[in-house]
Amino acid sequence: MNDIEVRAAAPTEVDVVVIGAGQAGLAAAYHLRRRGFEPERDFVVLDHAPRPGGAWQFRWPSLTYGKVHGMHALPGMELTGADPERPSSEVVGEYFDAYEQRFDLRVRRPVDVHRVVEGEGGRLLVETDAGTWSTRALINATGTWDRPFWPRYPGQETFRGRQLHTAVYPGPEAFRGQRVIVVGGGASGTQHLMEIAPYAAETWWVTRRPPVFAEGPFDEDRGRAAVAMVEERVRQGLPPLSVVSVTGLPLNDAVRRARADGVLDRLPMFDRITPDGVTWADGRHVEADVILWATGFRAAVEHLAPLRLREPGGGIRMDGTRAAADPRVHLVGYGPSASTVGANRAGRAAVRDIVRLLDGVPAGV
Ligand SMILES: Cc1cc2nc3c(=O)[nH]c(=O)nc-3n(C[C@H](O)[C@H](O)[C@H](O)COP(=O)(O)OP(=O)(O)OC[C@H]3O[C@@H](n4cnc5c(N)ncnc54)[C@H](O)[C@@H]3O)c2cc1C
Repeated sequence: MNDIEVRAAAPTEVDVVVIGAGQAGLAAAYHLRRRGFEPERDFVVLDHAPRPGGAWQFRWPSLTYGKVHGMHALPGMELTGADPERPSSEVVGEYFDAYEQRFDLRVRRPVDVHRVVEGEGGRLLVETDAGTWSTRALINATGTWDRPFWPRYPGQETFRGRQLHTAVYPGPEAFRGQRVIVVGGGASGTQHLMEIAPYAAETWWVTRRPPVFAEGPFDEDRGRAAVAMVEERVRQGLPPLSVVSVTGLPLNDAVRRARADGVLDRLPMFDRITPDGVTWADGRHVEADVILWATGFRAAVEHLAPLRLREPGGGIRMDGTRAAADPRVHLVGYGPSASTVGANRAGRAAVRDIVRLLDGVPAGV
């Protein structure tokens, strides 16, 4: 190897690497900036998606901005005057783009992080398809969108119809005239059903547990209680639960109407998938053209596997936003901070903690 090759292979040294430029990663980058960290010199933000917008850029076109409720703005810049009829993918994509420019965050994309391993001198090595970064601290903000969860059921591979996951939901018109089974008791499942029902020949809703509809407004107290519940789980090293599993499904007018129309009549989970549909152990059978798996997502953290952060319970034990097993590693947008408001707070908390870890002064200063 000659000198040039050696230099090309040497990792780039920074104080902090942020992986992911969704709500959580951008909030963290904003707070790094405020604390005097310079992009490219002291920190870098890496994202493997093609455009600004985090996971929002991939959400289905019928998820208009008006249908998104409770989306918090990023710190330091409001999202104002957005047309509620436009797809949220466009609105949020443009907003994130403007945000990155306004605060000069210099997100590097597309850069895919393959793995994070122990480096020398207490540093971590972040290995990517665009080179390696050596860092003193890591803010992991990789969300869940990249890891759709598909449960497995006997006979699944024999189904002759179409199976797809929420992650690639194309909008309701693609289901015109079809018989559609929607699996999953979360907000995505109910939204898909309400959209698809007017187009489909027939729909069925199948969930593992009976859905719980939450009466009354989703106020701050309820939000806090939900977050506390997920927080307790990750403190114990258990995998985080989805928000709906702790809050229940919001009961708004559209949901009330859908329930009255029978669109949200729920069946228990089937036992087997057959070439033409699904069956239950009691002999019941439903013929269908499509199975739509609205079965959620898992934290996209496989690239952290070499750090051995996982507990026997399957989750990463957390102390606030910090991985309990490694004070250099923060997870934001994970578990209790997996919402737009939670991601904002987590970004700030992680940076506060990292500043303390790095002795309050970025090494480059
Ligand atoms: C359909 C849907 C609707 C929602 N609606 C709301 C709502 O109304 N209000 C609300 O508060 N929350 C909502 N949420 C939750 C909300 O989207 C998230 O909590 C928040 O936006 C996630 O932000 P994030 O930064 O954690 O993740 P993401 O937005 O997923 O960003 C993660 C980023 O990491 C990148 N990445 C992942 N892995 C790698 C890797 N290995 N290398 C490089 N880059 C990587 C991805 O490209 C992505 O850009 C919704 C979620 C879904 C699925």
